Amino acid sequence: MASKFEKLLIKLGKPTWAQHLRHAQHIHGPQKTKIDPEWAKDIIKMDTHLREIGQREIYLHEEIKALTSLDHGPLSTEQRAQLAKWEMELEDLARKYWHLEREFYRREASVPPGPLQRAYATWRSNPEWYLLGYLRDDCAGRGGCCGRSCGCCERERDTEKRIRLGHCTIECGCCRRARGFDLNHEDRVRYQKLFDCDLKENEALWDSLKLAYVFGIMML
Ligand SMILES: [Zn+2]
Ligand SMILES: [Zn+2]
Ligand SMILES: [Zn+2]
Repeated sequence: MASKFEKLLIKLGKPTWAQHLRHAQHIHGPQKTKIDPEWAKDIIKMDTHLREIGQREIYLHEEIKALTSLDHGPLSTEQRAQLAKWEMELEDLARKYWHLEREFYRREASVPPGPLQRAYATWRSNPEWYLLGYLRDDCAGRGGCCGRSCGCCERERDTEKRIRLGHCTIECGCCRRARGFDLNHEDRVRYQKLFDCDLKENEALWDSLKLAYVFGIMML
């Protein structure tokens, strides 16, 4: 149940203050408001993984289209092999996405009741939630399109999936072209380790991410 003060802030047209209040209730409230402490982290990780798969799919479709365009001429044996490899990868990605999307729905629907639930529902009702300054800075800091003028994160990406909105992952094709090289296995492992949510030194970063993602606010 929302507190009287929370309702008053909404009535006064102060939704951000209401989110700060919900955050304070979540952090300092009774034990029952703090159940499932991993929830926010899981939501961010799953959402990121969904975007990774979706952005890889978009990139592969673009590459296939370029390779098979009419003015390209007949394909060499290597190119045909590459095409077959990409088609197989696309099928595998579609399967992974299908499963993960259901897991994400289940996790999202199991948001612990209380201030966290109210904050998340409020913040997600804003169609432009992901354009919050902190999330854009985080995207730019990781080498994403928010650090360039291409504008990829401001428009829908070329897919019907729910992840058509949102920031770059290491699979963004535009970032790949700006970077100038494909990430190998070692690059991916290093990146994952660097931003690992379980690292002590990443605690502040993840706290800020959780605030931005779930509450739509920044650290005061
Ligand atoms: Zn990008
Ligand atoms: Zn871009
Ligand atoms: Zn971005």
